[in-house]
Amino acid sequence: MPPAYNHVVKHVAVLGAGIMGVSTALFLARGGARVTLVDAAPAICAGASRWNEGKIHLGHLYAADPSLRTAHRLLPGGLAFRPLIESLIVQRLTPAIATAGDLFLVHRRSVVDADAAHRYYEAVTRLAATHPAATHYLEPLRDARVERVEAGALDALANRDEIVAGFRVPERSVSTRWVADRLAAAVAAEPGIDVRLSTRVTGLTMGPAGFDGPLTIVTPDGADGPFDAVVNALWEGRVALDAAVGLAPPPAWSYRYRVAVFLDTTTPVTIPNVVIATGPFGDVKNYDGRSLYLSWYDTGLLAHGTGPSLPPVPPLDGAAAARLADDVIAHLGGLLHGVADLPSLTAARHVAGGWVVAAGHGALDDPASTLHRRDRIGLTRHGRYLSVDTGKYSVAPWLARAVADAIL
Ligand SMILES: Cc1cc2nc3c(=O)[nH]c(=O)nc-3n(C[C@H](O)[C@H](O)[C@H](O)COP(=O)(O)OP(=O)(O)OC[C@H]3O[C@@H](n4cnc5c(N)ncnc54)[C@H](O)[C@@H]3O)c2cc1C
Repeated sequence: MPPAYNHVVKHVAVLGAGIMGVSTALFLARGGARVTLVDAAPAICAGASRWNEGKIHLGHLYAADPSLRTAHRLLPGGLAFRPLIESLIVQRLTPAIATAGDLFLVHRRSVVDADAAHRYYEAVTRLAATHPAATHYLEPLRDARVERVEAGALDALANRDEIVAGFRVPERSVSTRWVADRLAAAVAAEPGIDVRLSTRVTGLTMGPAGFDGPLTIVTPDGADGPFDAVVNALWEGRVALDAAVGLAPPPAWSYRYRVAVFLDTTTPVTIPNVVIATGPFGDVKNYDGRSLYLSWYDTGLLAHGTGPSLPPVPPLDGAAAARLADDVIAHLGGLLHGVADLPSLTAARHVAGGWVVAAGHGALDDPASTLHRRDRIGLTRHGRYLSVDTGKYSVAPWLARAVADAIL
């Protein structure tokens, strides 16, 4: 049993100002704690939490985990995302929600065949629709169903030499850039949070009571603390800090640096929200007709490694980013009608991304790869040191609530 805290106001260091750290800091500060929020980047939500596709997972993506363990793990966080984020940013999420649900298109080289994928999508949709929190999702799920796209409609959408089946599922996405701006504004408006940007955390020191006593963080500028509790929400830096305080890493671990194309159009386009399933393929998000996310897995995978340290990310100058964006659009354009027209309709485009950290190994074209699972995520606690593996953007506010409750 960790000792009870008997301070009136707790002073907590939250390390990492992505969606995980920011949500934790806001819950803690509003619960009466004093928070020091530290990040190596010069801005809040500058990495993966700003530059991702914003799928608010119900579990459909993990068809290669038919045990449904991943779906069970991700579902409560996905259902809680909207109410929790709305409470954090103190406004409705509606403007950020993609105007339509996802279409899962099964590639001929999918690691899960179309019939098995169909059964899996139906099982996940049933789980979501019958969950007590089903009404909290981005769209009401009570009557949600999976619809198989008829052959004629599929011909009109996709290259049928490559795409063997299509299913409409109720899963939706949000614009993570929109959310990141509102989270940064919420932090700026919160007097209980002291923000230290451009500050890299390199270690942690503790007194004779170890993790059960006060903790001090170490940065290149010196020591900062003592704190009543420290939350490690460093994502790509998390395992390294855990190791620095003597905690063993999990048995399998991998880092991937992935980028995608964030594109604004001059006129509204009707390209659907698509996931090419299941394997190293791509996605299209069309949030509001004019603001899109486009990814092609192999093109956007700039670095990968299995630890203990992060693999180097090659620099991406303007010309390399332009070539990468063209390549993503060419791959997706070969599969989805309408995508090849995007270059002539582009007002602005930006290539950006972040780290994907997963407690798994292998390659996405291997059905046995443990990257097809995301059930081993969440909070590990040692006294006053709490280390949290976010796992997915969509579960971050829900995990943050649990981290803050554990401290308060
Ligand atoms: C291309 C892409 C698409 C994705 N799509 C989805 C999706 O559709 N849905 C979904 O749910 N998830 C998705 N993800 C995963 C999702 O982005 C992450 O799970 C989530 O953003 C992690 O949030 P976080 O706050 O833990 O990490 P981050 O946002 O990365 O924040 C961690 C912060 O820690 C800081 N940091 C790291 N080390 C140190 C250190 N030593 N000292 C100080 N600061 C440090 C970093 O600067 C960073 O700001 C995607 C990821 C990528 C890259």
